[in-house]
Amino acid sequence: MIPRFRPSIGLAEFLALFRVRRNAVQEFEREFASRMGVSEAVAFPYGRSALWAFLRAVGIRDADIIIPAYTCSVVAHAIALSGNRPKFVDIRLTDYNMDLDALADAIDENTRAIVPTHIFGYALDMGRVETIVRDAESRYGHKIWIIEDCAHSFGASRDGRLVGTYGDTALYGLNISKIITSIFGGMLTFRDEGLAAKIRIWRDAEFQKPGLLKPWLRRLYLLATFVAFNERVYGFTWWLQTKTPLLNRLTKAYHLDDKIHFPPDHLDRMLDVEASVGLVQLEKYGEIVAQRQRNAAWYDEHLPERDDWTLPPIVDGATYSHYVIRTNDRRTFLEACAKHQVELGQLIDYSVPDLDPYKVEEQCPNSRVASETVINLPLSIPESRRQMVLDAIGHCP
Ligand SMILES: *Cc1c(COP(=O)(O)O)cnc(C)c1O
Repeated sequence: MIPRFRPSIGLAEFLALFRVRRNAVQEFEREFASRMGVSEAVAFPYGRSALWAFLRAVGIRDADIIIPAYTCSVVAHAIALSGNRPKFVDIRLTDYNMDLDALADAIDENTRAIVPTHIFGYALDMGRVETIVRDAESRYGHKIWIIEDCAHSFGASRDGRLVGTYGDTALYGLNISKIITSIFGGMLTFRDEGLAAKIRIWRDAEFQKPGLLKPWLRRLYLLATFVAFNERVYGFTWWLQTKTPLLNRLTKAYHLDDKIHFPPDHLDRMLDVEASVGLVQLEKYGEIVAQRQRNAAWYDEHLPERDDWTLPPIVDGATYSHYVIRTNDRRTFLEACAKHQVELGQLIDYSVPDLDPYKVEEQCPNSRVASETVINLPLSIPESRRQMVLDAIGHCP
């Protein structure tokens, strides 16, 4: 079965699991920064820990932090756990990114930071975000931090400029579902070396050395992932996931959408073994992104127009964390494709302001529409597999 996503890991990553250099984390930080076109990077055990730490380290408390309504729930959880409140701005259905007119209206005197997210690898117009924020800063007389969320958009650019090179800091997630992975892990990048140094010192004081067993559990996890996502085995993985509670139970400690919650090891430092895998992934990074772009372009060209779906926008510089189609009949598509050995994804199937802990009066209708209608096609597949995806979709009634 063709999985909805598949980490691009192979022999080099396995060798990296057992040839771990002592200062791999520092090396990973340096290489990461250089790849992302900035001067500094600071590593964390998860993306969510990185966001939480940033808000704490710069001293933002009891404030509103603006985020898009359509994003990963961990962003809101990190804000809540840092002692702040997420404030939601609706998205546009044209590219699923935050509506910048609505952003300008949402900022008020309680706003201390915003998290502009480049969702699905589509770069948001950061020039405009900066203008909106500078205006608001002069109106309210205090700094408003800009934290770009690049967890979906490694390497994406707009008018030739990379995402992650605008705000005060940029956030990356590195779990196995991201474009590149360090098993788990998260990263903040900086253009300002003084700010990076401050965050690094704060991290070193607050985050602890992980237990001796953890590097081995992480190795085991990566090996299991590799097996589980193998095309020949994936039918079984899919069965475990959809027909039994087993895998969900295993991932519960790590991820819950409707409860404000962090995994128990969220204050551990990134492991050298994780950084070691991340370093290999950075070497492959150009090719990984290029493959996704080639597959997306092929889908753009070959997917037929249908009345019952909306194809993804074609945007220059997009790197496609996900190739998303909107349809009112998501279940039919998912089931029909699964019968033909192709798994489609149903990612972010909630609008964050509709989740239990955040229930708010104000509506974000576009975010809700996206959460109810988006499906995504496999992208990390070899060229020889594309036609199989197309055929499976062709069988959808
Ligand atoms: C994955 C992700 C993060 C970070 O997630 P972690 O699992 O904590 O590493 C942040 N923002 C978005 C939009 C994400 O998809």
